[in-house]
Amino acid sequence: MSGRKEGVVFVGSFRENFPEDNRKHVVFVGRSNVGKSSLINMLVGRKVAHVSKEPGRTRAINFFLWNDELYLVDVPGYGYAKVSGEERERWRLMMEKYFTQCREKIQWVFLLIDSQVGPTPLDRSMIEFLSSLNIPYVFVLTKEDKADQKEKEKTIKELSLLSKAPIVITSAKEGKGKKELLKFLKVE
Ligand code: GDP
Repeated sequence: MSGRKEGVVFVGSFRENFPEDNRKHVVFVGRSNVGKSSLINMLVGRKVAHVSKEPGRTRAINFFLWNDELYLVDVPGYGYAKVSGEERERWRLMMEKYFTQCREKIQWVFLLIDSQVGPTPLDRSMIEFLSSLNIPYVFVLTKEDKADQKEKEKTIKELSLLSKAPIVITSAKEGKGKKELLKFLKVE
């Protein structure tokens, strides 16, 4: 027995001075309301992230320790219309800080895309940003249960034209895609 703690533990919310140990990070990003909290909860098997009908609530970066071996990093969603310009700028600076300070520890970014909506202009900016830093990412399609076959095919086609990143199709509502996502959480 290793004495390793199984399960997930909330570590804290950070705008700066992110945890300094060398555990790897798996980072969740996406537009607000994409289903990020629901996906994190599905993945860890309990309600650790706050699901809201009102988007744009999260203001700092939440760290969860997974099985004592890696961090699940929940970044506030982008693109919520009611957020002020000032708040948007704070978000941008926090992201810059996080990605420059922690770049070497990032194992994967999960870039969440709504199956029904497809990639938005802000998602495209995120793809460019991640590519420019050479950060590995996975497209995670959310709310699969809500989209019809045509919408899903369109979203997948658009994403495959944007990059060669892996695509995982999920539904937090139906518990779909969990096994595929857990593979990316294996410490390498
Ligand atoms: P976040 O803002 O990205 O964290 O998104 P939330 O997890 O709070 O979800 C936003 C809304 O989408 C909520 O009303 C959820 O109940 C709903 N939602 C999230 N995941 C799914 C899903 O897999 N299927 C369906 N039908 N609705 C979902």
